[in-house]
Amino acid sequence: MGRGYVRFWDPDAERFDIPTWPWKLAPSHLKTRDQLVEMGLRPHQPPAGQVMWNNKKLGVRRAYLFDVALAGPPKARSAAQVASLEAARRRRRICPTCGREQAYYLSTALKECTTCADGLEAAA
Ligand SMILES: [Zn+2]
Repeated sequence: MGRGYVRFWDPDAERFDIPTWPWKLAPSHLKTRDQLVEMGLRPHQPPAGQVMWNNKKLGVRRAYLFDVALAGPPKARSAAQVASLEAARRRRRICPTCGREQAYYLSTALKECTTCADGLEAAA
C-alpha cells in the first residue's frame, strides 16, 4: 500500500467533506460517473463519496462516486427539448443565400450551401 492509502482512507468523512477512499478501494456499489455511463446509467442523486489519488504530474485528483442503486437510465428529453434541438439542427441546414433547406449541414466556413458557394466562386 502506498502513502495514498492512509491519506485518502476516510470512509466516515472525518477529514474530507464526503466519504473518501483511495483509488480502487471504494465499495463496489459506488461507481464513478464514467462507470455508470458504461452501464447505461446516469447519476440521479448527489455523490455519495469520492475516490482520491495522487497523480505524479497533476497532483491530487478526485472522482465523485454515486450509489449505483440510486442511478437510473438517462433522463428522457421532453417533447419541447426535442423540438428545440431539431429546430436548431434545421437552421444549420438552411442556406441564407438561396433559402433552401439542404440535406447536409452548411459549412461554417462557407456559411451557405455549396451551390451558392460554387456560384460565387464562378462569378469571382
Ligand atoms: Zn444556397
